[in-house]
Amino acid sequence: MAAGALGAGVLSRLASRALAQPAGETAVSGSAVGNAATQPWQPVPVLQAEPPSPTRFASSGPGLGNRIAITFDDGPTPGVTEIVLKELDKRKIRASFFMIGRNAERFPSLAKEVADAGHEICNHTYTHPQLSALPAAKAQYEIQKAQEVITAATGHAPKWLRPPYGAFRRKDQGILAQQLGLGVIWWSVDPRDWSQPGVGQIINRVVSATLPGSVILCHDLHPQTAQAVGIILDQLQEKDYNFTNVSGFLGEPYGPYFG
Ligand SMILES: [Zn+2]
Repeated sequence: MAAGALGAGVLSRLASRALAQPAGETAVSGSAVGNAATQPWQPVPVLQAEPPSPTRFASSGPGLGNRIAITFDDGPTPGVTEIVLKELDKRKIRASFFMIGRNAERFPSLAKEVADAGHEICNHTYTHPQLSALPAAKAQYEIQKAQEVITAATGHAPKWLRPPYGAFRRKDQGILAQQLGLGVIWWSVDPRDWSQPGVGQIINRVVSATLPGSVILCHDLHPQTAQAVGIILDQLQEKDYNFTNVSGFLGEPYGPYFG
């Protein structure tokens, strides 16, 4: 449509409503001219990216200051957890313990001992299933029941969840964790100590793979880990690493660091 075909009234409204708009542009698009009486200039819509998930996910910490975190999964285990605690305490190192709810329920005084020693208490589900294979209601039960029994045994409500085997459906199961106030954390160094590869192997795998920001995954489950842990801590301290725990790295999952 040519500008000349517009009535004088429309043209004057265009001029008065879109002073900043160069005169030629109002006539370029047919649809703009068609809407000219009510809206002579259409802003280009701003494309919105999909909003990020509200759930906090992490697998390592910031690499600043040579800091690393050591974490222990699958306990508490009588005969193993006590040794791990002793080795940590000797060096005044605080770790994060991802407890299986059923174990905390079975050994509440040992679970409490971990918390009383100043370590961070975290959620590793109630019975250690592969969460990604579970329907929503069962996954929710696993996380929530663990949260309840671990809190009851230790007096501390976990802030972080580690999915067994790392198996987790971020999109829908992330919401379950977030609703319980839990961030989800994986790991970045895995010596596969649960397979009992030998004390020397566990030590070498951890020490050779650790970098600033590493989150080290160990298990207070078998004696080999208990035997390896003191040497691992010594060797990493000799390399000038400073130990923290998950919240020491990342703060609370829904706190100001992530906000
Ligand atoms: Zn586990």
